[in-house]
Amino acid sequence: MPTYPAIPRPDDEAARLEALRRYGILDSANDPDFDFLAEMAAVICDVPYAFISMVDAERVWMKASFGTTATQLPRDEEYCSWTILEDRGLHIPNLTTDARTAYLPKTAGEPRYQMYCGANLITSDGYRIGALCVMDTQMRALSGQQVRLLTRLSGQVMALIELRAKDRELSASLNVMQKLATYDDLTGLLNRRALLARLQEEVERARRIVHPLSVIMLDLDHFKQINDTHGHMAGDVVLHGVGKFLRERLRVTDSAGRYGGEELCLILPGTSLEDAAAVAEKLRQALETAEFVTSAGSIAATASFGVVAGQPGPKLSTSSLLDAADQAMYRAKENGRNRVELGQEV
Ligand code: GH3
Ligand code: MG
Ligand code: MG
Repeated sequence: MPTYPAIPRPDDEAARLEALRRYGILDSANDPDFDFLAEMAAVICDVPYAFISMVDAERVWMKASFGTTATQLPRDEEYCSWTILEDRGLHIPNLTTDARTAYLPKTAGEPRYQMYCGANLITSDGYRIGALCVMDTQMRALSGQQVRLLTRLSGQVMALIELRAKDRELSASLNVMQKLATYDDLTGLLNRRALLARLQEEVERARRIVHPLSVIMLDLDHFKQINDTHGHMAGDVVLHGVGKFLRERLRVTDSAGRYGGEELCLILPGTSLEDAAAVAEKLRQALETAEFVTSAGSIAATASFGVVAGQPGPKLSTSSLLDAADQAMYRAKENGRNRVELGQEV
């Protein structure tokens, strides 16, 4: 492989690369809107080839190309590496006689480009991160109007790059906000509002596909005492641990949420009372032997469980399920705690 002389790097290279990286465009998926702008550039300039290229540290990566399938080239072999050194872009009507480009492989070898014109892609803070460029295998000069339109079009390419970056940022923050609005910080389980919404969905689904729906309510035993003995912070660590404990043990179709302070609720779609009771008993036993490591030492916790199942029918609702599960859970407290009680079928 021949190596080519280094094309000079601009003075602001480090900051320029940082600006380029900010857009997250490098190696992004194909986007027809960019293809369209490349095609427009080719049509305006009446040439067979056009690129939208991003000048990365050691390569030029093509966001879009028209007339060729090139996706990237070493930076020292690409015309655009010269373009970003120029304030006003670069127009070379005869590549074979220009010292900057005569030796380059795409001039000296296939496809033997003879004309190049590139308009810089300039960020809002002034960095030249790439170019919108056109090539021809014929020697020729573009008209003033073509160069002007190509330059204007490069502004549209840059506007699209900015738009895509803003879209990505927006959907990332929407994701974060949705998570914050759905999950409880301390336990990592659904918060009360999301839990009730999920239960409502499952009630409707149970009616639609006619299957049972079980709910398990559990409340930690003597949690006030855990707080009083080890401190509220240690209590928080235990609650966090119990949330993780439950998340790790549920099926993907099940949901777990924080109904109140240390009262948690599990939703088990398509599960009969008998099966839900078995799930509750297994959880009870596993929790009994679990230890939660806190700065105040290892803490054990137990819980009282109330289990209820609903069959699709007129009485099935979120409140009838929650009330019945709550009543069963309180019976478990009355009957000595660290136990499972079953409620009336709803
Ligand atoms: P019981 O066995 O009857 O449930 O006894 P308990 O002490 O757990 O009684 P109860 O459920 O009425 O009290 C709950 C306690 O849990 C009181 C409250 O301070 C504590 N708690 C509720 N939410 C949190 C929390 O987020 N962090 C901590 N550390 N404690 C909490
Ligand atoms: Mg409690
Ligand atoms: Mg409680």
